[in-house]
Amino acid sequence: MSKVFAVYGASGCGRSLMPVAIEQLRILEGDTDSQIVFIDDALEEDTNVNGYTAVNYTKFKSIDSVDKFVLIAIANSSIRQKIADKLVKDDVSLWTVQGANTLIMDGVSVGVGAALSPFVTIAANVNIGKCFHANLYSYVEHDCVIGDYVTFAPRVSCNGNIHIHDHAYIGTGAVIKQGTPDKPLIIGKGAIVGMGAVVTKDVPAGAVVVGNPARPLNKP
Ligand code: UDP
Repeated sequence: MSKVFAVYGASGCGRSLMPVAIEQLRILEGDTDSQIVFIDDALEEDTNVNGYTAVNYTKFKSIDSVDKFVLIAIANSSIRQKIADKLVKDDVSLWTVQGANTLIMDGVSVGVGAALSPFVTIAANVNIGKCFHANLYSYVEHDCVIGDYVTFAPRVSCNGNIHIHDHAYIGTGAVIKQGTPDKPLIIGKGAIVGMGAVVTKDVPAGAVVVGNPARPLNKP
């Protein structure tokens, strides 16, 4: 029985990751047989998205295969976690996808279910948790530690010795100052770094910071 692969989410994130998934499966891994589909729970019936079949999760579950692999291509980290828990419970494997030109250096560990878009670089001795999203042109420099369900929008500059805790979201073009081995710069759990922010010091858990230098966002 052949394997079945899927990209979960057929909106912006999923449609941008499907070509990366196809390139990995068909060209890099030479698998021209396995089926690949989109899964999207908003669908009541099968549809076509950019030339690929898109089904809801109920339909996906009914596909006759014991070997199912799913990349969760949804930027919202809480939804990613909820879906990841469901997939694991249903014995579906979390699939990691990376671009052909994604560069991963020595001593790197990347947890299951990662989406590493084209032009992403992960430098030496970096540890990354489950379901990490690194969007186009982002980099993670040496000795960083990244938790579970962390999300990088495009072109995030994450310099060396930075620790980013679970569910943090880093906006487009943000630059995070490097820490040191003795005192890594810490972005706390669930923190949000706004687009273009220049982060020069630790960001507490749950905080939203913006600007240069990045400061907490004052709510009206
Ligand atoms: N979605 C889903 N199951 C869920 C939550 C979301 O299939 O439990 C789908 C939703 O229908 C939508 C996509 O995931 O098509 C999320 O798209 P959105 O534009 O909100 O975000 P992005 O693609 O940027 O992550």
